[in-house]
Amino acid sequence: MAAQASNGAAASPAAGGRAYEIIDHTYDVVVVGAGGAGLRATLGASESGLKTACITKVFPTRSHTVAAQGGIAASLGNMSEDDWRWHMYDTVKGSDWLGDQDAIEYLVRNAPEVVYELEHWGVPFSRTEEGRIYQRPFGGMTTHFGQGTAQRTCAAADRTGHAMLHTMYGQSLKHSATFFVEYFAIDLIMEDGACRGVIAISMDDGSIHRFRAHKTILATGGYGRAYFSCTSAHTCTGDGNAMVLRAGLPLQDMEFVQFHPTGIYGSGCLITEGARGEGGYLTNSEGERFMERYAPSAKDLASRDVVSRASTMEIREGRGVGKGKDHIHLHLEHLDPAVLHERLPGISETAKIFAGVDVTREPIPILPTVHYNMGGIPTNFHGEVVTKLDGDPDSVVPGLMAVGEAACVSVHGANRLGSNSLVDLVVFGRAAGRRCAETVEPGERHPDLPKSADEMAISRLDRARYAKGSTRTAELRGNMQRVMQNNCAVFRTGEVLEEGQGLIHDVWRGSDDIQVSDRGLIWNSDLIETLEYQNLISQAVVTMESAANRKESRGAHAREDFPDRDDQNWMKHTLAFADVENQSVSIDYRPVHTYTMSNDIQYIEPRKRVY
Ligand SMILES: Cc1cc2nc3c(=O)[nH]c(=O)nc-3n(C[C@H](O)[C@H](O)[C@H](O)COP(=O)(O)OP(=O)(O)OC[C@H]3O[C@@H](n4cnc5c(N)ncnc54)[C@H](O)[C@@H]3O)c2cc1C
Repeated sequence: MAAQASNGAAASPAAGGRAYEIIDHTYDVVVVGAGGAGLRATLGASESGLKTACITKVFPTRSHTVAAQGGIAASLGNMSEDDWRWHMYDTVKGSDWLGDQDAIEYLVRNAPEVVYELEHWGVPFSRTEEGRIYQRPFGGMTTHFGQGTAQRTCAAADRTGHAMLHTMYGQSLKHSATFFVEYFAIDLIMEDGACRGVIAISMDDGSIHRFRAHKTILATGGYGRAYFSCTSAHTCTGDGNAMVLRAGLPLQDMEFVQFHPTGIYGSGCLITEGARGEGGYLTNSEGERFMERYAPSAKDLASRDVVSRASTMEIREGRGVGKGKDHIHLHLEHLDPAVLHERLPGISETAKIFAGVDVTREPIPILPTVHYNMGGIPTNFHGEVVTKLDGDPDSVVPGLMAVGEAACVSVHGANRLGSNSLVDLVVFGRAAGRRCAETVEPGERHPDLPKSADEMAISRLDRARYAKGSTRTAELRGNMQRVMQNNCAVFRTGEVLEEGQGLIHDVWRGSDDIQVSDRGLIWNSDLIETLEYQNLISQAVVTMESAANRKESRGAHAREDFPDRDDQNWMKHTLAFADVENQSVSIDYRPVHTYTMSNDIQYIEPRKRVY
């Protein structure tokens, strides 16, 4: 049995009798993830004097947040009149009334403050003539409750995430947080329903690290890689979400997967919505600007689900472009080359590299591509993880928090508006840091860890390392990605989803036959990819099950057999629990928070879907 040494080393035998060296660490707060959400939470916790560690599987500035292009939404009103109430209205409407309105109020009211905070820390925002932060229009962002077009999205050219991440990493080094870089978190340490920390492996020497913490904050990002074509990085495997499932806790609203209308055909690389914000538009094979038909007022700037579905309809009805008539054109060539150079330099380069297109002369071939996971770990607006316990749908899980794309707080509900994620990261990353400061005394004593603290993580690691099956991880992953792409995509029907349930469970069952050939512990990418695949498949299954279960259309979840939103029966969050050992899923619900945080704005009533 491993000794309970603090910051010391011990050896722990795994299931197969093999010993793993274990190093113990004790912190007030441990953050898993160093993207926008994780860095903001790390900064907040450490500046309030709490001993804080941040564990990350990639170097912080390589987190997917670095790829965010378009910008961060806040009602600064620099370029047009604006009001947080209008931002709130748009976000509630964009969420198709599945967002929790207390959390949405918290988000939009705090948005301007966090943007100014970023500015003061040094984010090099693009500027107006007068020197104010430049703001561009984005889909679904309006003034006067849907009447006009808002310019609300603050941008650093088309590299906003890059600028934010580098600035926040620099700031976080000012405080005393300790970074554990290229450490892969395997599983949570749970005891009697409370989280006590996390187990991680250092990928460069294979040592196992046991982190004890009063608060563990998961900021591990989305799981786009469950699909074949997605805009997210290869690292977006939803590891934190899967740890939560393995801990017997639920994931929320996993059926809501956002497709971005403008992924580059073939590679899936993103062309920001900012391209349409700056005046870009879509055409079909007849050269028609078809969005005028689908969304007469918002046109090319209708929200993402609307544009993705319209493009899919055009392709299905034979009006796609190209030899296979299987994609759409995005035009920027009519824009002033100076504007392209100044405002969209990154995507001009991306289009050249990944589509061979000079955007000043020809259209970019594009296709709807998986972009964002609205679903994730249910939390309240302090970032505390909640579950349904003894009938209480808002029961806080002691010691466990989640922020960013991994979390479902839920401000995006059934569909996220463009530029509302970056602001979600910083607003709720900050909230989580503050909550830690309110609830944890620096240096507070830790109770002893349970004897079995590392058992689950180490036996899982050991089983994967010595897996002797006959199907390679890459093959299983490919099968999973194809099933998700074909059976859980932009348009869904009961029949296709039912087939998908069968197929994805086949892949899950087939995972018992996994083959890992590298038995080493030093930079064993075969092993790490296997752990990531195991994480992905459990999320793929709950996504498919949740989608088959929801019999209505709402936001990104478009059922052809149930085309209308059904507030009577379905204005509720899905909770999906997985029994990972027995490979089964069960579903429950939580009510949507149909109340606001203050009396400054009334609950926004559901309206008919009009764009
Ligand atoms: C191409 C692209 C462009 C986008 N553009 C915009 C935009 O313009 N505006 C907007 O609002 N949103 C945008 N989004 C969405 C937004 O960028 C993401 O939702 C957001 O960046 C996610 O941030 P995060 O901090 O939650 O996670 P990430 O940035 O994905 O970071 C996850 C972190 O978790 C760590 N991690 C994960 N698993 C483990 C593990 N097992 N062990 C240790 N560490 C782990 C990783 O190392 C990483 O540091 C875009 C997304 C994409 C893909």
